[in-house]
Parts: sequence; C-alpha cells; structure tokens
Amino acid sequence: MAQSFDVIVIGVGAVGSATCHHLAKRGLKVLGLERFAIPHAQGGSHGNSRQTKIAPYIGGPYEGIILRAYQLWRELIAESGQSDIMVTTGFLDIHRQSEVSSYARDSKPGEVGFFEKLDLLEIRNRYPQFQLSEPYWAAYDPVGALLRPELAITTYVRMAMQNGATILGNTQVHSWQATSSGVTVQTDRDTYSADRLVLCAGPWTGKLLSTLGITMTANRMSFGWVWPLRDQKDYLPESLPCWCIDDDPGIYYGFPMMTDVPGYKIGLHWYGRDVDPDNFDRQPNADDEELIRVGLRKFFPAANGPLLGLRTCLYDHTPDDVPIIDTHPEHDRVTLCGPLCGAGFKFVPAYAEAAADLAATGSTALPIDFLRIQRLLESP
Ligand SMILES: Cc1cc2nc3c(=O)[nH]c(=O)nc-3n(C[C@H](O)[C@H](O)[C@H](O)COP(=O)(O)OP(=O)(O)OC[C@H]3O[C@@H](n4cnc5c(N)ncnc54)[C@H](O)[C@@H]3O)c2cc1C
Repeated sequence: MAQSFDVIVIGVGAVGSATCHHLAKRGLKVLGLERFAIPHAQGGSHGNSRQTKIAPYIGGPYEGIILRAYQLWRELIAESGQSDIMVTTGFLDIHRQSEVSSYARDSKPGEVGFFEKLDLLEIRNRYPQFQLSEPYWAAYDPVGALLRPELAITTYVRMAMQNGATILGNTQVHSWQATSSGVTVQTDRDTYSADRLVLCAGPWTGKLLSTLGITMTANRMSFGWVWPLRDQKDYLPESLPCWCIDDDPGIYYGFPMMTDVPGYKIGLHWYGRDVDPDNFDRQPNADDEELIRVGLRKFFPAANGPLLGLRTCLYDHTPDDVPIIDTHPEHDRVTLCGPLCGAGFKFVPAYAEAAADLAATGSTALPIDFLRIQRLLESP
C-alpha cells in the first residue's frame, strides 16, 4: 500500500532541502526523496563555499528575490544557530568593460544595494594580492558573503525533520505521475503518493521532465584549492573578500581561505561542455588543474602553490539560462523548481519559499514572473 503525504519533494539538494523546510514549517506532511546520501558531491551544491551579493541585482528582475533570500538566510541562521552558513566577506566584482549595466546606477552609502567603484590604483592599494595588468575596475559590495552549501543543506534537512518531514536519502525516483486526484512517485525503495509534487532535481531535471520539449542541459565544471606560496594571511577573510574577475573564456572566481577546508579556492565560471549527469568523467584531471593554474598565474602568481584539492561539479541550464520556478504547464499539482542555472545558490531560500507557496496555495507573492515556464514554451 502506497504511503501518502501532502507534498513529495524530489531531490534534496540545495533548493529541495530548503523547500522541505518551508513546507514542513507550514505544518504540511512532507516527504523528501534524494537519490544520494545527504549532503553529497554529485550535483551542483558541494565544495564548501558559494558567493552572494546584492548590488548587481538592484533595479533588475532578481532584486526582490535576492533581498528576500538575504532575509531568509538570516532567519535560517537565527532559527538554527548555525552562523557559519553565511559569512560576510564583502564581494569584489572586477571588470574590463567600462560600462556594466548592473552597476550603471548611482549608489549612496547606507542605501540597500550600495557599492563602491574602485579604479585600478584603488584595487591595487586595497588588495595587493591581485595582479591586474589590463585597465580593470571593480565594484565592491560590502554585504557580499560566502555561503556554505553543505551546512545549509544539512541545516534545512535537520529543521524540516524536526518539523515532522520524512526525508529519505539513497532513494532514487524512477518515475512520477499526476492525475486530478493526486500524484504518485515510484522509487527504487517503494511507491509513494501525495496531493502535490515539487521537482527540485537540479542537473537531472531534464530527465524527469523529458515530455515538456524544453532542452535542459548539464555542464561539467571544476574548481580547486591551493596553498599560497607566501603571505598566506593575505588570503584570509580579514584581508580578502569573495571576488570575480571578468576574463576569457569566462569569469574567474575565488574565496578567502576559511578554516573548514585548507587552501585558497579558485574556479572558472564558464560553459564547459554538456554532459549526461549520469554518465561523465567525475574524476578531476590535469586539464581541470590547468584551468585554475591559468587564472593563478595571471592574477595571483604569489598564490600559485601546491594543489590541495580538485573537484568536479555540475552546472544546469535552461535554453535562456534563467531558472524555472512555476507550476507545471500540464499538471497543476506539480511545481517545478529548477534548473537554477549555475548561479542559483544565493537565491535558494527565496526560490524554495516561492516553490512552497505554489505547492501549498497555487500562487506566490514573490516576484517570479520572469522565472515562469511560459517564456520557454512560447519560444520557436
Ligand atoms: C562549481 C559551482 C560553483 C557555483 N558557484 C555559485 C556561487 O558562487 N553562487 C551561487 O549563487 N551559485 C553558484 N553555483 C550554482 C549553485 O550552487 C546551484 O545553482 C545550486 O546549488 C543548485 O541547487 P539544486 O538544488 O538545484 O541542485 P542540487 O543541489 O544538485 O540538487 C538536486 C538534487 O536532486 C537529486 N535528484 C536528481 N534526480 C533525482 C531522482 N531521480 N531521485 C532522487 N533524487 C534526485 C540530486 O541527487 C540532487 O541532490 C555554483 C555551482 C557550481 C557547480
């Protein structure tokens, strides 16, 4: 006999764990189903750190989402006591082009979304760790922060279960069906039924939504940690914010050295190559190391020291690289929450709240119109 729930959430990664938390907090009977052990390093939410910032989103479609996400990260920390989930480091966004639309507005100290513009000389004076030869400039966002993905997922799962959710790891969903009376989900463990379903499958979303005719892809990414050759204290959060540098073939990004993983973390945000998330080479290789060495040689020669770790990870994409948060176009009992498109961690609490709203009530007050699926169904 199938077990029954109010809502089943498929995928307990970043946004799935947060969605379980939001739904369970509302008193709903929730089942979260995750194919791997929780948390894991197979999807898009591992590697101990993610970046967040507010300034570039003010005045754009993500403004309401990022502001709500910041509120909800702070609420999560207050409710759980896990202050390490978000560490304010500041965020330095380094550009080559003189005009960058996300920083085109005026910005005053004290207002929401304040940022400072630094010219090359000011960057060099404040952050001598960077070697910048081109006419770069930077926007510094003082509320930029480092988020810890594994700790956030663990905390969301713990809190959801304390509020009565059932969450099963190592349980792979093979198929799901929705009818006018409910949803049924078949796993390698059992069959489960519920009133509603939320899909939070990240890079695997395309596999669970193959009938929609929307191409959803996954990319293999890599990043690593090195031990700086000298002046290691210059890479601590007291001296270095989270940062990004606009370069070719993508954007180099990095984090100050924290105590939970040894070394200085650096990666390249780019489009890599499409892979099948169930069948690709997860093992980091010499090319992955060279990708970060290129960035280190160019921008941080003094940090280009011994390798401490390399990892691969998955980005996920929609055709326009904007996430999908919406009710399924053919099944009103099913909510879609992903793919989050390679830069989604910072928005996770707000995306999850919107998904929980849609699953529980059919609507949300959060400004998610630009995330609705119709835009992709209307495309030629
Ligand atoms: C290297 C890297 C760096 C990034 N840096 C940043 C950053 O600095 N800032 C930022 O905001 N974002 C960043 N991102 C993006 C962000 O981390 C992701 O968008 C986000 O974490 C994805 O969360 P998710 O819940 O959608 O996916 P995941 O966390 O991957 O969760 C999906 C879950 O669904 C499960 N699942 C899938 N299919 C099934 C099934 N059939 N049955 C059961 N379970 C299933 C998976 O196992 C997985 O646990 C980065 C991503 C990567 C890869």
